[in-house]
Amino acid sequence: MYKINENYLELQDSYLFSTIAKKLEEYKSKNPDKEIIKMGIGDVTRPIVPCIIEAMHKAVDEMQDGATFRGYGPEQGYEFLREKISKCDYKDRNIDINPDEIFVSDGAKCDVANILDILGNENKVAITDPVYPVYLDTNVMIGAAGKYNKETGMYENIVYVPIKAENNFVPELPKKKVDLIYLCLPNNPTGTVLNKEELKKWVDYARENQALILFDSAYEKYITEKNIPHSIYEIEGAKEVSIEFRSFSKTAGFTGIRCAYTVVPKELKRKSSNGDEVYLNKLWSRRMSTKFNGVSYITQRAAEAVYLSEGQKQIKQNIDYYMENARIIREGSNKAGFTTYGGVNAPYIWLKVPEGLTSWEFFDKLLTEKQIVGTPGVGFGPSGEGYFRLTAFGTRENTIKAMERMSM
Ligand code: PLP
Repeated sequence: MYKINENYLELQDSYLFSTIAKKLEEYKSKNPDKEIIKMGIGDVTRPIVPCIIEAMHKAVDEMQDGATFRGYGPEQGYEFLREKISKCDYKDRNIDINPDEIFVSDGAKCDVANILDILGNENKVAITDPVYPVYLDTNVMIGAAGKYNKETGMYENIVYVPIKAENNFVPELPKKKVDLIYLCLPNNPTGTVLNKEELKKWVDYARENQALILFDSAYEKYITEKNIPHSIYEIEGAKEVSIEFRSFSKTAGFTGIRCAYTVVPKELKRKSSNGDEVYLNKLWSRRMSTKFNGVSYITQRAAEAVYLSEGQKQIKQNIDYYMENARIIREGSNKAGFTTYGGVNAPYIWLKVPEGLTSWEFFDKLLTEKQIVGTPGVGFGPSGEGYFRLTAFGTRENTIKAMERMSM
């Protein structure tokens, strides 16, 4: 008799966004004439820029010629892309990351999930609260999170590190010793960031406690302020204690094309139980070779075009477009009487829900009274209660319209 992975039964009922979709469908079926503005899911709306489309067309053409056709590629990514990433995202910023420390994949979501393959389920895990739900759920799936407590909304084995207005969205170092630390900066969902000094405390903690930081910088390109680290490796000593995840999804609109990368520095090593030194870079490379067949050639050529000077200019225009939306949302919400956070170094605005309402009650109110869909903060963790996430990824027209409705 076969068995199933019963850890899955500990997952909380429905994934946040499917609950939102269900509520939205219900409302739409009862109010077919109402025009709804979606500011919930963090998907982009701007099309792929011409420079990248051109590179993809060229790569497609190469596929029809026997001399340039490509079959299986290297599972870790083509050298041409790994070199570009190493140079443009790291070396040009004085960070010494080499191509063989970079692993190209089809998504940061998959990578932050799959990394647990090489880490196992015996680590004490810390997550900031609220948090991008994938970190938590993937730990639940491998049995590292323990039982769910309905009253607290927390898993018994997870160390929750609150980030909220009371601590200025700066997470405090855990009082209990932890092994794995997920940090997402700029943060989804709060849109807030840490400066170098604040991030350094975490790197120092990891070094002192032999912990590993899993650093998700999917929104790095949205940083507008100085002294905000784009990469954790800007912090001294971070290469010995951190893995960094990046994605072309929000940087270049690749949510449908799919391309991302993970940096596993050669410095990362651990003693196995028999005393041998084990390098995480080697383990991750082995994992990729065994379980992954690489990102398509066409996609990697598309990602390469991101680094052309024309590509950089064009994607910046889209990022600026979203950040202008963010400004409109921030200022519009403030004018309507709401307190907001984030939205300066990230395309997310974290709005304080009016006193007396839960974040789901505010969701219902905004949907039924203003026909605006956002994401209830509690869906990202218990400390998200009392907050609400709005995204800046919509069209300019809808963003302006939504803020007009908010102020009415
Ligand atoms: N990490 C964070 C913090 C995200 O918000 C997202 C997407 O919303 C991802 C990773 C997923 O990135 P990808 O599209 O590369 O899987």
